[in-house]
Amino acid sequence: MITVVHPGAKVSLRDLPTDARNGYSGKDDPQAIEDLAKLLARLSELQERLMAGAKQSLLVVLQAMDAAGKDGVLRKVAGPLDSRGVSVYSFKAPAGEEAGHDYLWRVHARCPRKGELTLFNRSHYEDVLVVRVLDLVPKARWSRRFDHINAFEEMLHDEGTRVVKIFLHISKAEQGRRLQERLDIPEKNWKFDPRDLDMRAKWDDFQEAYEDCFERTSTQHAPWHIVSADRKWARDIAVARLLVETLEDMDPQYPEPNYDPKAIKILP
Ligand code: AMP
Ligand code: MG
Repeated sequence: MITVVHPGAKVSLRDLPTDARNGYSGKDDPQAIEDLAKLLARLSELQERLMAGAKQSLLVVLQAMDAAGKDGVLRKVAGPLDSRGVSVYSFKAPAGEEAGHDYLWRVHARCPRKGELTLFNRSHYEDVLVVRVLDLVPKARWSRRFDHINAFEEMLHDEGTRVVKIFLHISKAEQGRRLQERLDIPEKNWKFDPRDLDMRAKWDDFQEAYEDCFERTSTQHAPWHIVSADRKWARDIAVARLLVETLEDMDPQYPEPNYDPKAIKILP
């Protein structure tokens, strides 16, 4: 399920489902498998048009608690796309040159060029989320950032970049299971970061920071989408559908050839 946050609306995350099957019986439901395949095929087609037309751009912002599936969405939904027109960037805590600039500097530099679909794994939203919860920047500073962010995203929109913001909503119990799995399965050990446990201990603070963030930064052009994400397969279908609908609305077109294809003969 996807909840679209209307501008200024208050959000209560605990009242929104983390577990939704969206009408399917489960992950082996043939309809679910078929729908995902169809959506991914349609997404590829639209992304090729976006790339070929090179007139507009699409920026997908993925935010979530640890282990909520940001990487899974990148692999399953963005993975099959044509890599020539897709870029993914994972934002970590700013370091070196990044830390020497304002918080939007590194973000702006990674925004899509015309024709490109860019996905952010974390984003400028960390600068009003983790920064707030861990008290890395005084409130007097981070609280002014909502307005900067809205203005920044409005500028992107006005200049031809569609901004789609997605929050993958999982329950604390599901996060616990996934973190445990990272400890139990040797091939998943590399995904575990002991610092995730410090963040998990601040679960309620993060949920509250997210709620404020949604209320302050859902705009008409770039609203937040809260996706039920406890079930990975349902999450993938929901995100794929959202991206297909967004691109259909953007309606990218192949460029007109600057020659007459019928007038040209390829000699044997
Ligand atoms: P991961 O996404 O698991 O690789 O972790 C990246 C880490 O970088 C997370 O703990 C984020 O909270 C942190 N991070 C990302 N952006 C910022 C930021 N602007 N300030 C502080 N920490 C950040
Ligand atoms: Mg992590």
